[in-house]
Amino acid sequence: MKKAIVVGGGMTGCTWAHLLSEKGWEVLLLEGDKILGGGCRTMHYGGHPYTFGPRHLFTDKAHIFEYYDKYVPQRRLAHYLLTYVERDQEFYSYPIHHDDIARMPDRDEVQAQLDNRGDPGAAKNFEEYWINSVGEILYDKFVRHYSKKMWQIEENTVLDDFKFDGKGVGLSEGSHEVRPDIFISYPISLGGWDDYVDMCASAENVEARTGVFVSEFDLNKPAVKVGEDWLECDLLVSTISPDIVLRHAYGELNYIGRDFIPIVLPCKQVIPDPTFFLHYAGQETYTRIVEYKKLTGYQSEQTLIGLEIPSTRNKLYPYPIKAEQARAQKYIDEIRSDKVLSVGRLGNYRYMDIGLVTDEALQKIDEI
Ligand SMILES: Cc1cc2nc3c(=O)[nH]c(=O)nc-3n(C[C@H](O)[C@H](O)[C@H](O)COP(=O)(O)OP(=O)(O)OC[C@H]3O[C@@H](n4cnc5c(N)ncnc54)[C@H](O)[C@@H]3O)c2cc1C
Repeated sequence: MKKAIVVGGGMTGCTWAHLLSEKGWEVLLLEGDKILGGGCRTMHYGGHPYTFGPRHLFTDKAHIFEYYDKYVPQRRLAHYLLTYVERDQEFYSYPIHHDDIARMPDRDEVQAQLDNRGDPGAAKNFEEYWINSVGEILYDKFVRHYSKKMWQIEENTVLDDFKFDGKGVGLSEGSHEVRPDIFISYPISLGGWDDYVDMCASAENVEARTGVFVSEFDLNKPAVKVGEDWLECDLLVSTISPDIVLRHAYGELNYIGRDFIPIVLPCKQVIPDPTFFLHYAGQETYTRIVEYKKLTGYQSEQTLIGLEIPSTRNKLYPYPIKAEQARAQKYIDEIRSDKVLSVGRLGNYRYMDIGLVTDEALQKIDEI
């Protein structure tokens, strides 16, 4: 039986372990933390289940929704995101919606800038892209400060790798409802994604070991060092940051993280339906507030919200900066071979949500 080692037991690593097991591989899944699931693991505060960030599935690919629905039955959710713009003392829809402009005190200036917008295609950086897309005032209200605090940068002009996926760009018009071909969902079970992770870890011929932080790799064999032993395999699947795999040969890759503050409030619900998280686009220290019971379905007279504050204490979001992407790519090119994969959000050094890491796994597994 062919043997695979999967490093990292988040959603990416667990999905790979499961898919490899289904293809008849023997899999050793190694996770540095004490528990599997990475950022999608369900934690509890005041009895309320929650994850670090919303972690809902958001995909336009029916097969991804069906994949998860099969293993962890999903509750479809309606959602639209609201952003608080302190200078207007208003919550507006996000992506910026044309209807909201009529409610803005400076609507005439906003409209004049929209009428004279530049060409987003000609933009050289994130800031120019947004100003060319929606004008200076809307950029200022919705994007400038949010982005600066999100990435902890002095100016948004440093963000020069800004390939958008269309979810959050420009001005939306028409219905506020989510398009019916978009699947927004969360596991029905109060265990959230844990049931999926646990199913992957207990799949046939999968051995999951937690508390094993891997820092030594032999990419030629391939093999990884665990304790004093080198463990060899036919296929190594790395879902971790590529700089760790090559012992930071080209320097440590930069990421921005989040501090997370859970707060229980003495009321059943705080954020009006159908929204389950809010953005704060101004000088506040936090970027986002999530109300968890709307995702998890937890019933309580109280509600749990989570505040997210950008931080350098953990490594979560790869920087959309070309020089950093190029450095990461140097690592990735050196790691990848027919026996070694570097996959997922960290392995690609690219923000990928649950749907995207799963889609990558489902596509690549067929090539193995
Ligand atoms: C704050 C936040 C909120 C998010 N919200 C959403 C959302 O609402 N919807 C959505 O679709 N996506 C969301 N995402 C993204 C999505 O959850 C992840 O991309 C997806 O879960 C894939 O995770 P992963 O396994 O690649 O990474 P992770 O979950 O980070 O897992 C990586 C794992 O590798 C382990 N590890 C790292 N280094 C080593 C090592 N050397 N040895 C052994 N183990 C190691 C870590 O401990 C961790 O468990 C969010 C991401 C963040 C950061």
